[in-house]
Amino acid sequence: MVVSATPRNARCPCGSGRKFKRCCAELADTTSRTALAHAAVGQRIQAWAGEHHRDALDVAWAEITGGREVALGEVDVQLVATWIFNDRELRGGGTPAERYSRLDDLDADERDIAARIAGARLGLMRVARVAPGLWIELEDLTREDLVRVVSHGVSAHTSPGDLIVARRMDGPRTSSLWGPVGFVSPETGPRLSALLDARIASSGPEEGSGALARAMHKASMEITILLSVALRQPVMERQAA
Ligand SMILES: [Zn+2]
Repeated sequence: MVVSATPRNARCPCGSGRKFKRCCAELADTTSRTALAHAAVGQRIQAWAGEHHRDALDVAWAEITGGREVALGEVDVQLVATWIFNDRELRGGGTPAERYSRLDDLDADERDIAARIAGARLGLMRVARVAPGLWIELEDLTREDLVRVVSHGVSAHTSPGDLIVARRMDGPRTSSLWGPVGFVSPETGPRLSALLDARIASSGPEEGSGALARAMHKASMEITILLSVALRQPVMERQAA
């Protein structure tokens, strides 16, 4: 991890000019632990859903893959899994993550983290500033604000101006990203715009503010397919034919 390589007396990689220990060091220390705790809750959501909603998960998988045998890479698997647990509603309403967060026997911490995972909806964001290995400042186009998210991995692979599809998870102290990040490319950008424009137009004017966020939720399966290399290729070939 980039963070652990920064000596505490060195200048902070965020570019503030201050020493690391007087700037982003504490953030870096606490967020590694927080990320592990969040990942553990994510695994318990998946395990619970696998036990109690196996059939629904199989149906969701068949929906998004179009029932074809597909070999998905690691990022694609994460994209699809996050869609299934965070967007795909179960019969009777509620996503698997939402249902889990409402279980009776959760302790307060588990419920709080699960509810925040469940609330991490697809967002469209433009990268404003980056401190590699530490954080990214994002112009959140979905929620119309500017947010700094802690991210060791993504911050090392992104630059100002990049447009990303990501799930923002707000916390009591910091915000972070939940699940994989999709980079909007010259290839996928126009298709994403067309998809969202169509959804917003079909919702009608009464939707008002938050229209983009709702459109992304409604189009979450199509967006996930668009971001997944293995899933989008056959669709594009069909349309080109
Ligand atoms: Zn700093």
